[in-house]
Amino acid sequence: MNHIFDHTRESLKQTLSNAGMKPFRAEQAWQWVYSKGVTDPEQMTNLGAADKKALASAVGLALPTITAEQHAEDGVIKWLFKLSDGQEIETVFIPQGKRGTLCVSSQVGCTLTCRFCHTGTQGLARNLTAAEIIAQVWLAKKQMADFTPNNTARKLTNIVFMGMGEPLYNKDNVFTACHILMDEKGFAMGGRKITISTSGVAPEIEAIGEELGVNLAISLHSADDETRTKIMPINKKYSLPILKKAISNFKLRENRRITWEYVLLKNVNDSLEDADKLIAFIKKFPSLVNLIPFNPWPGSPFECSNPGTMNAFRDRIAKAGVDVTLRKTRGEDISAACGQLRSETSKRNTVSLQYPTVVAVYGSEKQQELSKIKVNIESTE
Ligand code: SAH
Ligand code: SF4
Repeated sequence: MNHIFDHTRESLKQTLSNAGMKPFRAEQAWQWVYSKGVTDPEQMTNLGAADKKALASAVGLALPTITAEQHAEDGVIKWLFKLSDGQEIETVFIPQGKRGTLCVSSQVGCTLTCRFCHTGTQGLARNLTAAEIIAQVWLAKKQMADFTPNNTARKLTNIVFMGMGEPLYNKDNVFTACHILMDEKGFAMGGRKITISTSGVAPEIEAIGEELGVNLAISLHSADDETRTKIMPINKKYSLPILKKAISNFKLRENRRITWEYVLLKNVNDSLEDADKLIAFIKKFPSLVNLIPFNPWPGSPFECSNPGTMNAFRDRIAKAGVDVTLRKTRGEDISAACGQLRSETSKRNTVSLQYPTVVAVYGSEKQQELSKIKVNIESTE
């Protein structure tokens, strides 16, 4: 892969030096891209004509098309991006006070078929390249005018890999993207501001700590093997004891904790006995439990638990001394859902235009026509 967003700073320097550019010129190009939000070599005013030409011929510079941008009343923004082969992915921004979390996709679709997840019904089209992952962040920042001098007062402060796809089934590209996101002369996102969420790909979990030092979120959803296998087929391959062992080997950095995602499904995993099993499973780890009200989608086989049941579940966990949140849903007027996204362009009345024009900023009337799937992401920091 040879898009400019595929490269770490070092590999960009190498590639551009092969094209005849001096290393400090490559650094300047990097800063244009990641500090100033400029990818057009013609606008890189401190590069000479020869370097501009070398840059344009050495790496790909095309950007995904923004098919739609939707704004919810609570500040959530959802983008639909069209990739060079016509595939589509969704990316969601969730502001919460000073924090702004971008929920990014790692695959088009997903091979895993978690029963409660809309993405899981779609199958896997393909992995995203590192460049396509970075493009989601870059375009979101660009659209929000978030390339600010010295990164002051940034809108986008956190990244969660909780969009479409299983990040650990696209590990190489996700890890490269994380290295790029963390580069101190680029987006400069600290490891504690990035979270990789996995359904439990046990053999790859340790590397998240060793190679990246970003946060780990485990989509647990049940601490009972039989129930978990029913709702998450990956549990057949990596059962709870295997998962637990892998998480024990994950090197947790100082003052951090593991986030446990737990979607509450009515009469499936929401009893107090289920809560006790969850507590027993996580008790040896510094933990934050994120309870997520199930968001139904057309044809989904589950129902959301009753509010009283959800509160009782939360209180049981809190009484055991474990930090727990029951997530609020966000962005419900624009069908913005992390983890259950599915590309269904036919339902949207949009036209494709080239970046940087924002094509479809829906008003609330239009939004009401869209199916009501809710966003429910809160990042751990
Ligand atoms: N594949 C990874 C990351 C994407 S899923 C993973 O499974 O962790 C992101 C989160 O959304 C997961 O915790 C997932 O369980 C949750 N999710 C999926 N479908 C959901 C639904 N219908 N309602 C609420 N949360 C859901
Ligand atoms: Fe894939 Fe995660 Fe959805 Fe499961 S919950 S199908 S792993 S995206």
